[in-house]
Amino acid sequence: MKKIEDYVLSIPDFPEPGVIFRDITSVLQDADGLQLAIDSMQDCLKDIDVDVIAGTESRGFIFGVPIAYNLHKPFVPIRKKGKLPRETVSVSYDLEYGSAEIEMHKDSIKPGQKVVIVDDLIATGGTIEAAIKLVEQLGGEVVKVVFLMELAGLKGRERLNGYDVASVICYD
Ligand code: IMP
Repeated sequence: MKKIEDYVLSIPDFPEPGVIFRDITSVLQDADGLQLAIDSMQDCLKDIDVDVIAGTESRGFIFGVPIAYNLHKPFVPIRKKGKLPRETVSVSYDLEYGSAEIEMHKDSIKPGQKVVIVDDLIATGGTIEAAIKLVEQLGGEVVKVVFLMELAGLKGRERLNGYDVASVICYD
């Protein structure tokens, strides 16, 4: 049986020279790969008591929604600034060049709810650190963070000290 690693294509020098881009579209475009990815991520939540699944734009949506659907839990999108139509809370975070801002609807999480955050990949951990802050601003408790892939060399996990972090596959 094939493993997730067998479906991930590694693209050298994308989006810039020296970077190896781990492509998830090659996982999604294979029916077995897609099922294995969702099932493997969902397996990480076996012993977790969760009220809400949150996913970061945009690849966190791809994995977060089917997991929420399977667990019969609500799904909440964490979006880039300016996309959500109702009242929001927001957090800014630093990128390699410049900064970014993400938002959630104010009523998307109720204080005390247990939240799992889903994304495709953790690199430096900046995106997910901001997502955690946002959930906590709304009074949510982040009970787990789940990724399909982890780029361990970038030490993103260290930024998430104290949180329960799971990734299905790990690259150096
Ligand atoms: P971080 O904030 O540095 O952890 O970057 C994580 C975000 O960048 C994720 O939302 C990913 O979608 C994206 N990303 C960074 N590197 C890659 C890659 O090699 N493949 C796919 N997505 C990536």
